[in-house]
Amino acid sequence: MGDEIDRAQAATEVYQEAALLAHKRRTPPARIVPLNGGARDCLDCGKPIPAARLKALPNAIRCIECQNKKERMGTSLE
Ligand SMILES: [Zn+2]
Repeated sequence: MGDEIDRAQAATEVYQEAALLAHKRRTPPARIVPLNGGARDCLDCGKPIPAARLKALPNAIRCIECQNKKERMGTSLE
């Protein structure tokens, strides 16, 4: 019985890890690296992120509009 619980727990951990990895892969590394001296496109709508926003938030991956939308949906885990 104890073994079964251990095995179930191990399977859950493997699943969580895979889910996490899959989630991370949805953000291709190339998209979060500054291109052309800082110019970057919004991950959601593809429009260029304003330079002022990138200056304030160098790691921003979305334009203000999309970021606000995402935060309103309560899924701003990234
Ligand atoms: Zn956008």
